[in-house]
Amino acid sequence: MGRMIAHLYLLHDVCQSRIHRLFFYYRSICWKVEYILEGDEMRYYCLEIDEGEKEPYAYGASVGEWPRKEIHCPLCQREWKKSTMYDWGTDNPIVLSNDNYPDFLWFYINHISGKAKDVLEREKITGYSLEKAHVLSVRDLSDLQLKELRRQGIRIHKIPTEPPVYHKLHVAVSAEFYKKSNVILLDRCPECGYETYSAENKERVEARDYLYLREESLKGADLFRAKGYGVTVYCSERFVEVYKRHELTGLTFTEIEVL
Ligand SMILES: [Zn+2]
Repeated sequence: MGRMIAHLYLLHDVCQSRIHRLFFYYRSICWKVEYILEGDEMRYYCLEIDEGEKEPYAYGASVGEWPRKEIHCPLCQREWKKSTMYDWGTDNPIVLSNDNYPDFLWFYINHISGKAKDVLEREKITGYSLEKAHVLSVRDLSDLQLKELRRQGIRIHKIPTEPPVYHKLHVAVSAEFYKKSNVILLDRCPECGYETYSAENKERVEARDYLYLREESLKGADLFRAKGYGVTVYCSERFVEVYKRHELTGLTFTEIEVL
């Protein structure tokens, strides 16, 4: 009888340890699943300007007028001036504000350095195309242009005489917002591209506020802009990793909410 009880105890212990083992096995599966899910969850960021800490980075100042074209639309009958700043082939000459050149230079459309171009190509970053930028030397400027730049607060003696090559970074407008965002594209004229959208409850919409991107609309691109709010460029986690690994300059990143 005593042996029987001992045996039962032993069996009980074996069962317990089995249960324990199973439990730990189960826990480790859970952890693995959690780990995989976390690893799979893509993070997205919006590109913001790093103005430079010790010494301010150069930024682009427009030499001509804001590029626009007059539209007389036969379809929606609207007459309006369409900005061509983000269009391919628009000539918008700029000067640089000083000679502390970042890899990502702020202008209304991002300009990137030769180094950044090489890195993005080598790392096979997706979602963009490049066009050579028109960067003027201070020697190219007329008296009238100099006067206008002075009026904009540009210090003329800091404008480089031999600026480096920059490329305009064209990023496709592809992502969509969720309905709960404060910017909702209501209508787009298929002929002239005039867009009407509501920006409810806010006078000024900040890039990372109240904007929720639809993850399924991102289609795996590393760089993208969003319909209805084309000013901001967004990027994938991979882009941030590449940017940091190659020690590129001129940007900061703010994580955004993607639903
Ligand atoms: Zn139209």
